[in-house]
This record gives sequence, C-alpha cells and structure tokens, in this order.
Amino acid sequence: MVDHEEYWSRIRERGVAALAEELTAEETERLTEEYGAHNYHPLPVVIARAEGAWAYDTEGRAYLDCIGAYSAVSHGHLSPFLVETACAQLRVSALTSRAMYTPQLALFLEGLCRFTECEMACPMNTGAEAVETAIKIARKWAYTRKGVPDDRAEIVVAAGNFHGRTTTIVGFSSEDAYKRHFGPFTPGFVTVPFGDISALAAAITPSTAAVLMEPIQAEAGILIPPDGYLAAVRTLCDQNNILLIWDEIQTGFGRAGRKFAWQYEDARPDLLCLGKALGGGVMPVSAVAGTRDAMEVLHPGDHGSTFGGSPLACAVALAALAEMEVSNLAGRSAVLGARLLAGLRALEDPRIEDVRGRGLLAGLEFHAGTDTGALTQAFLHAGLLTKETRHRTFRFAPPLTIDESLTDEIVRRVALALAATVGG
Ligand SMILES: *Cc1c(COP(=O)(O)O)cnc(C)c1O
Repeated sequence: MVDHEEYWSRIRERGVAALAEELTAEETERLTEEYGAHNYHPLPVVIARAEGAWAYDTEGRAYLDCIGAYSAVSHGHLSPFLVETACAQLRVSALTSRAMYTPQLALFLEGLCRFTECEMACPMNTGAEAVETAIKIARKWAYTRKGVPDDRAEIVVAAGNFHGRTTTIVGFSSEDAYKRHFGPFTPGFVTVPFGDISALAAAITPSTAAVLMEPIQAEAGILIPPDGYLAAVRTLCDQNNILLIWDEIQTGFGRAGRKFAWQYEDARPDLLCLGKALGGGVMPVSAVAGTRDAMEVLHPGDHGSTFGGSPLACAVALAALAEMEVSNLAGRSAVLGARLLAGLRALEDPRIEDVRGRGLLAGLEFHAGTDTGALTQAFLHAGLLTKETRHRTFRFAPPLTIDESLTDEIVRRVALALAATVGG
C-alpha cells in the first residue's frame, strides 16, 4: 500500500488516463467490488475504450454495443461533432449555475423547443430528475389551474413502468426489487394496466392531474401498447382536463423509429420527459419540455438544479440535437430497425418466444425455462453486448449510427450465440 502523499501525487503526475490504461481487468473488478456499493451486477467484461458502435475490452477484443448505455449513446460512442463541441466549450466555460444567464442555455432551449415542437423547457441532468420535474409541474398545475383541492392531486401511471430510481418514483413502480425496503412512499399515484384504455378511464377522478406513461415500456421488456392506445389516452386527457406526460427518456430522439414514439399516433403530450440520448452519450442531460400553459406554473424558487442547464451540458445537447437532425437518426432507426427485426425473426430457434420492437429498440424474448445466464455469456463470447431487461427479454438498442452491414452483423452474432448454447 503506497502512502497517502504518494498515492495522490502519483495521480497528479501520471494522469488519470495513464493510470486507467495500466489497470488490469482483475484489479478493475476488485476495486469496483471492494469500494463500490453493489447496486449493479456488471457483465464480466472491462471496457477500456469505445468508439462508434464498438466497445473494446482490456485485451482489445471488440464488442458490438447493443446496450448502448440503455439508449443514451444513440449517436455512437465519441461522435466526432459532439467531442469537438465539448472540447471547444471546455475552453470557454463549463459550469456557471442558473444564477446567471448563459448563451449556451439560451441556444439549447431554443433548439430543444424546435426539435420537440414544444413551447418551453426546463433543463435537468438525469432522467429521474426530469420525471420528478414533470410530477411537480403537473401537481402545481392541478392546484393552480384546474382547481384540485390542495394535496389531493392524483397522477395515473401504468403497471410495469420504469421512470427512474428516486424514492417518489420507485414508490409507484410495480417491480418489487425496485421498491422493497425503500418505503414509506409518496402518495398520490394510481396504477392501471398498461394498454387498457377502459381501466384508465375508470381510474380518472376530478382530482386527476396527469397521466404519466412511457409510450413503449422499454425496461418492462419492450412492450408496445395496442394500436390506438396512445391516441385514446390523449383523448381521455382532453375530455377530463388532464395533462398527458410521455416519458420518452428511452424511446425518444429516434430510438423507436420516429423522433418520438408518441408520433406513431395523434398523441401529442402536454409534458415530455427527456434524457439519455439528449446528452449525446457524452454528458448527463435531461429536460422536461411542454406547453407554455403547463410549464408556466414554475416560478423562480419553485424548482432547480445546480448542474442542470450548465454551459457544457447545453453545448453538447444542442450539438446532439443538430446531429440527430442532420444525420436523420430517426429515419435510419426506422429502416435499420425493420431490418434488425426481420433478421431476428428469421432466426429459427425453439427457445425464442417473441421478437418485437420499434425502430432500433428491439426485444428478443425467450421461453420460460431458457438458461438466460448461459445466453448472456454466449452473447458476450460472440462479441455482442446485451443484457436481459425484465421477463427473459434481451434488449437490442445499438447506436442509431450503425449501417446495414453492422445491423446484419448483430443478427449474425446472435445466431452464433444461439448455436453455441443449443442443448443448454
Ligand atoms: C432510464 C430511464 C429513466 C431514468 O433515467 P436516469 O437518467 O437513469 O435517471 C426514466 N424513464 C425511462 C423510460 C428510462 O428509460
């Protein structure tokens, strides 16, 4: 064990990049497990660097990244324009707080509203914060605009939801592992089955402030609601003076083959929760965007974030939006997603129960009893990064910048992994 002074001065002298490069895979795992809380169970691989659709381990083995940081690296790793933007911004300013105006925030807000066809936006950092922000806006809107009696507002959510990990949000999760031993929870949430419009209609009361849902439930196993559901939710909200909040943190920004998954139907939200790919795979950037009527309920002092809307985050996010538009990532996602789904559906394996998805958000579900642990290992050995969501469904969410041949390569590697585990 090196002494205290030597430990810190070594970091200053060698630099973090050099130290990271020298750390062995074994040491990486040991330090992480010894000093890190065990709230994740990583795949047995150490990623040393990543570029485009590829991640490389410490031995230089290449993996096609189909986890894509849960859809946060839609632009691919180290997208050149985003790296250039971040480096340029780091020579100007990085963090100033919202106590002052900055040109980067101004430009980002304009760009985000244009991209989302919304009127106003509130920048945050993580997805959970965007959802919390939307909940606060919806409640305040209900009390100050709709006339719901104080502390009585209800928000209707869907069973199987995933909206993040704060105590309020896990309180209305239906997943035991997310909430057990974390109570007591925030009241004011009502759960209905996802995709069942009459259940939603029955749950609405005069105190309903908002409906908060994902247009496709990604974490629940890439669950797509029945045709017409999204538009019917919109209609119910209109009829009952209720805000519609789509959580598109995972499905947005082209992931599901449209800019936003709500666009498959006439289902424009009042509030849109955004995150993940908004940061271009470089920075944590999230936001709530919405109508002026809803967003205007926030006044100075009501809500805030130290890091939210920082010049660095805003510069990167605006560049990320421009890259999505100019490279037509949503259009690519639609075309390549159809190709990926067709390829996966053509795999003849009796263990496969279902293949579903929209755009480059695909789920490969296996029958009960399948050894998914062995499959996880086999995917890794085939040079493919993918993990189970819930319910024996492997998620495929590669960068939207892949091309036809890489799409086919994903399918080829899935086939290899399936072949390697036959009889397992
Ligand atoms: C990832 C995710 C969140 C939470 O985002 P964090 O940045 O992890 O807080 C919320 N909603 C959905 C749909 C997500 O996929």
